Amino acid sequence: MITRRPGREPQPSATLECGQVVHYEPGICPPAPGDVVPCRRHGYCATAAVPVPTRGARGPRRTRSPRRTQEELRARLGGLPGESLAALRRERFTLRLLADAQQEGWLRVDQESDWVRLRSLP
Ligand SMILES: [Zn+2]
Repeated sequence: MITRRPGREPQPSATLECGQVVHYEPGICPPAPGDVVPCRRHGYCATAAVPVPTRGARGPRRTRSPRRTQEELRARLGGLPGESLAALRRERFTLRLLADAQQEGWLRVDQESDWVRLRSLP
């Protein structure tokens, strides 16, 4: 059982295999599971579980710049005679995305001039 006192930092604690809960001063790292630590009742006992402090670690981080989509690429090139590969890469359009679009058949990349253009669909 973890009791939280309002207005205080969460206190690190460890549950021992005998069921005892040992509390530590805030800022002190609690022992890892399996570590043998002093126990008030039995002298020394192994740690059973350590509650993981949830300090802003909630799931995987979101990437700062979301990936460009093929729709964005299509919109970017729409109405243009073409765009240079370097310019598109500066705008975070990846080579992978360009390759995928090429495979789908609506994009053409001129390898020699590095010129990217929409392929007119039939
Ligand atoms: Zn114990």
